[in-house]
Amino acid sequence: MKITKLMCTPFSIPLANPIKFARGTLATTDHVLVEIATDEGITGIAEAPSRPFFYGESQKSIVAAIEDWFAPLLIGGDPFDVEGFWTKADAVEHNNTAKGALDLALHDIAGQVTGLPLATLLGGLPQPLRVTYVCGSGTPDAMADEVDAMHEQYGIAAFKLKVGMDRRGDEQMFAAVRKRQAEALLYIDCNQSLRAAEAIELLSVAADFGIAWAEEPCHADDRIGRRRVAAKARIPVLGDESCRTVFEVAREIEDEAIDLVSIKVARTGYRNSRRILALAAANRVRTLVGSQGDSAIGVAAGAHFCAAFAETRSLPAELCFHLNLADTPVAQPLQIEGGNLSVPTGPGLGITLDREKLRHLAS
Ligand code: MG
Repeated sequence: MKITKLMCTPFSIPLANPIKFARGTLATTDHVLVEIATDEGITGIAEAPSRPFFYGESQKSIVAAIEDWFAPLLIGGDPFDVEGFWTKADAVEHNNTAKGALDLALHDIAGQVTGLPLATLLGGLPQPLRVTYVCGSGTPDAMADEVDAMHEQYGIAAFKLKVGMDRRGDEQMFAAVRKRQAEALLYIDCNQSLRAAEAIELLSVAADFGIAWAEEPCHADDRIGRRRVAAKARIPVLGDESCRTVFEVAREIEDEAIDLVSIKVARTGYRNSRRILALAAANRVRTLVGSQGDSAIGVAAGAHFCAAFAETRSLPAELCFHLNLADTPVAQPLQIEGGNLSVPTGPGLGITLDREKLRHLAS
């Protein structure tokens, strides 16, 4: 089997409830559908999300990186050679989500050829997963309403709240949400917005409301501040923007700056996500599967990874971002019931694209 062609299709989906976070606002998610075709009629798919505030990649740069640099490395080669792809692709720095999508699309081909769901190919089973909903933005009462609605409609019992823009408002939000959801798992994402002293104070307030952990209180480059917060904060710290690569995760662990790490297959593919998982497990750092503002294509890729490993299954995964998107590029929606996402059980990613919808989202 040989790779014959790569196709890139940029598409965008508006959010139902825009997310405001410390480094910007996400009102529309931009993606590139990446397809790898083979001479045996099997085509692997994945999506690369453009998140310039984290990776410096745009839809155009993702397409250019794939067409100019990575497609020539792949065409004519064996789609099962994921390791060979990374060895060659890493000669080009960065472009995390372009590389990640190609890794996922190669795995999708392997899943289709073997007839196995990707979770099984990775060594586990496509079992249902607990999910975390990432809340949008609004007044404390509006946030509490959103949390209630997701709990009632889908049974979701874990929520991530974006904080770090308004100290007083954050406290009011903790109070409003906790009053409605006494038992829910709540955690916060500061998106690197705080200085160490501010972070220690906010995390102390959060602890009083039973917030389980805090994601990225300080900037990824603030190594001294990060160490100070991890040592002094009353709740654990989750690494995200500081943990975009295996090597960054190694640095954060050595700095004793994180207690948990967010694995996002969109930026590390399955190959490097497994390396992060092993590194974290060996250092007793907990792992959860995060969201890159994925559509159902990316959610399915994250779900298979999460389902495959005991460590990632142990915490709810941020795999329901598609609930906050106004449209979907797949034919069958991913089901969430009782707070659990059903992982597709068909070969590969196990999803079917809605080509008509994609044409509309791409225009
Ligand atoms: Mg984050």
